[in-house]
Amino acid sequence: MRFVNCCKCGLGKSRTNAVPGEGNPDARIVFVGEGPGADEDAQGRPFVGRAGKLLDRIINAMGLQRKDVYICNILKCRPPENRDPKPDEIAHCLGYLQDQLEIIQPEIIVALGAHAARTLLETTKSIGHLRGQFQQYYPGLGKMPIKLMATYHPAYLLRSYLPENRRRVWDDMKTVLTELNLPVPQRGGK
Ligand code: URA
Repeated sequence: MRFVNCCKCGLGKSRTNAVPGEGNPDARIVFVGEGPGADEDAQGRPFVGRAGKLLDRIINAMGLQRKDVYICNILKCRPPENRDPKPDEIAHCLGYLQDQLEIIQPEIIVALGAHAARTLLETTKSIGHLRGQFQQYYPGLGKMPIKLMATYHPAYLLRSYLPENRRRVWDDMKTVLTELNLPVPQRGGK
């Protein structure tokens, strides 16, 4: 894939592996995170560290498995020390995500955290404001918008593992399942 050798921004020099994304190319749901961390950089796979384990639990609680969905990030290469993505890094990388979404054509995008949500929605609103109801992602002129559910990033949930935050994420996932006419398991949000 093109991004494996990409050097469009400075992260190309510091990464160990690019992390394109993985999962079902026909997925109905695409989860989009911020960018690879140390574990992802080492393995070349998205969400395989602590936050990834929590994302797995969320996906499983939805009655799904990783292979049912597609998981990727705004940035395909790790920012050093896990710092926030810089605007030029996002600008250089976004085309790859846009291409992935164009190929997969998911029914719903789940944006994990503020960076993913703000980038895809082109807004500066807070995640607390954006989550809880569907927003629209506009892929480009003449293309159909895709429903986007913003929710808290699993890394944030780990830092703030409070019942109300877990319930909010589960509420968001229930809304996603209902929209897709998928069964809503009872056990989530625990
Ligand atoms: N956090 C992210 O946003 N993406 C990953 O792939 C891992 C952690």
